[in-house]
Amino acid sequence: MQELQNKLGKTLRPFNALGPVATIFGAVNTGAWRYERPVVDAARCLRCGVCGRYCPVDAITVQKSGDPCVDIMWEFCKGCGICANECPQKCIIMEEEGNENG
Ligand code: SF4
Ligand code: SF4
Repeated sequence: MQELQNKLGKTLRPFNALGPVATIFGAVNTGAWRYERPVVDAARCLRCGVCGRYCPVDAITVQKSGDPCVDIMWEFCKGCGICANECPQKCIIMEEEGNENG
């Protein structure tokens, strides 16, 4: 093992990082690990765009007209709930994944 580490140490270039290695959160496909998803009460939505501005992965598009008022890219939404917390109308609730219709 020590021999392998010594060998790798000579072949790998040094990596300079100031802290934990980060990833671009928004670029990661969520896959199946989200356990809650935001559900918008369209009747109360003002289309103000606040939810979209706060979404850390830029998964929300608020449409000025038409349906849905708030369009969410489910493949990138992480279910963090920030949109629900920031909505001034409190018209976004977080529902358990897979339980959207009941
Ligand atoms: S923050 Fe709330 S009211 Fe504003 S667009 Fe989003 S869901 Fe609608
Ligand atoms: S739950 Fe989080 S990731 Fe998903 S749309 Fe809301 S703010 Fe964006």
